[in-house]
Amino acid sequence: MYNVNSMKAEEFISHEEVLESLKYADENRDNVKLIDEILAKAKERKGLNHREASVLLACDIPEKVNEMYSLAEQIKKDFYGNRIVMFAPLYLSNYCVNGCVYCPYHLKNKHIPRRKLTQEEVAREVTALQDMGHKRLAIESGEDPVNNPIEYILECIDTIYNTKHKNGAIRRVNVNIAATTVDNYRKLKEAGIGTYILFQETYHKKSYEALHPTGPKHDYAYHTEAMDRAMEGGIDDVGLGVLFGLELYRYEYCALLMHAEHLEAVFGVGPHTISVPRIKHADDIDPSAFDNAISDEIFCKIAALIRIAVPYTGMIISTRESEAVREQIIRLGVSQISGGSRTSVGGYCENERPHDTEQFDVSDQRTLDEVVNWLMRIGYIPSFCTACYREGRTGDRFMTLLKSGQISNCCYPNALMTLKEYLMDYATQDTRSIGEALIEKELDNISNENVRNICRDNLCKIQDGLRDFRF
Ligand code: SAM
Repeated sequence: MYNVNSMKAEEFISHEEVLESLKYADENRDNVKLIDEILAKAKERKGLNHREASVLLACDIPEKVNEMYSLAEQIKKDFYGNRIVMFAPLYLSNYCVNGCVYCPYHLKNKHIPRRKLTQEEVAREVTALQDMGHKRLAIESGEDPVNNPIEYILECIDTIYNTKHKNGAIRRVNVNIAATTVDNYRKLKEAGIGTYILFQETYHKKSYEALHPTGPKHDYAYHTEAMDRAMEGGIDDVGLGVLFGLELYRYEYCALLMHAEHLEAVFGVGPHTISVPRIKHADDIDPSAFDNAISDEIFCKIAALIRIAVPYTGMIISTRESEAVREQIIRLGVSQISGGSRTSVGGYCENERPHDTEQFDVSDQRTLDEVVNWLMRIGYIPSFCTACYREGRTGDRFMTLLKSGQISNCCYPNALMTLKEYLMDYATQDTRSIGEALIEKELDNISNENVRNICRDNLCKIQDGLRDFRF
């Protein structure tokens, strides 16, 4: 039944294979010899398969878990250095015809005012986001073929790319909208999107159907096969995710890796990113109603083991998590975080946080400047880089570069140059002085002399008012 190459959801995410893998993991959770072998394989930095990775997740031996954490930290440093890419979500519409029981946008929720941004409002939100310093957005929308058809989403993308305010520009729009057709994915690709993101929510079919009782999202196969259609439509950067808290985390972790293996096997390129959202309180949603909540400790272990199992896949964490959890999990493997986020439709132009239309409560409520300042103080380079996809480095071309280690000759200087733009245009005085010192120090770490000289030159040009340099 299990077939990684199959195009049928129930075959590439075979329930039996997940259960057998979890059984194998349970049987071997104290098998130190096997665990050492798996860790040795992981040290080669070529990843692990879902069975091997599930054994590590099941293992509770403290010194082995510590080894997993150290390895995750090391892999993170090797592939991503100390750069953290910044982004913000932009909510376009909360009209939705689905019945997702964990989401306040569900059709039956009559408490929240339904709202959809007009193009003028999109431009205003984008201007507000540009004034914060953002260059990369993830657009979010409920599913509603009448209120939010693909034409509406495409129009919004166009407005976003064409809104220019002072030195601001949104240079990459990632898209998180419901599963759709190959034709629509092709249109999104033509509109110039970065990553197509779709959270699986849960890979467990029975639970999936119960958690999505009504609406088009009820169809497990259609949802689970969406990334195959996206790839067919020409989108080669796709982002997976599980909403942790809905089902047993070990099941989700194993199936998530099976999904990544499937994409790699069929299309020759795994997921570009993996997101790790946890269920949060929201209007009409009580997270304690979902009894599979995971502790911070397990959450960190999952992140570390994603880092080890798929070293080339970026990992994203949102403001659903607090500052403390974000600090821990960034160290263990996260490469991209949001900052200053509003999860309500129109939230960036409203001064007060409107709790009634927020998709979920935001734990990290700091401004983007506070997050940037904090990241630098704890040893990271906040990066506003969007160069890869603009230079055509997507899909397998991106992965080949990453695997060869060459990406550091692009990402590192790009991070410094985009940080410099941020410091010049948007930072507070304190953030600017920390940042200028950081850039000076980090410049010396660019090993290629030619790249270092060009980067230094471009930093001077940015100081003089020019913008948008990239390798
Ligand atoms: N509507 C699109 C879909 O169905 O895929 C995507 C956009 S939705 C605004 C983005 C994600 O928010 C969902 O995929 C879900 O995982 C997450 N989400 C929904 N309710 C949540 C909650 N109460 N707490 C945390 N995340 C939630």
